[in-house]
Amino acid sequence: MKYFTIKELTATSSGLPNTPNAEQIKNLENLVNKILDPARVALGFPIMIGSGFRSPAVNVAAGGVLTSQHTKGEAADCKCKDNKRLFDYIRKTDFDQLIWEFGDDMQPQWVHVSLKRTGVNRREVLRAEKVNGKTVYRRI
Ligand SMILES: [Zn+2]
Repeated sequence: MKYFTIKELTATSSGLPNTPNAEQIKNLENLVNKILDPARVALGFPIMIGSGFRSPAVNVAAGGVLTSQHTKGEAADCKCKDNKRLFDYIRKTDFDQLIWEFGDDMQPQWVHVSLKRTGVNRREVLRAEKVNGKTVYRRI
């Protein structure tokens, strides 16, 4: 945990309680230590966390799916000055799920990444797009 804090990984503008338990903090630390800190070093510029851990209430308010890895502390939505470079970097690591979130063919609007501390990480790469107002995910 060099470049990221639990505070920024649990920030919410919703005003709702958003306190992770010990297990969820361990998951956040794992995500930072294995992916986010190394990505920050490799890119050489700041990475902002739009959303990290979400309590069930915060997740509902954010419109997240019920099974969202954000509720486990396993996922973060990240933004930086070159989201494609961030995406391409993470793609080479051992992650569970990596999502090119909206944007266009040149740049995702943000990057969702998740990592499990235990069990198998699937290395699933998806692209989220709006089709007729609905969010669809396809493998890329
Ligand atoms: Zn996300």
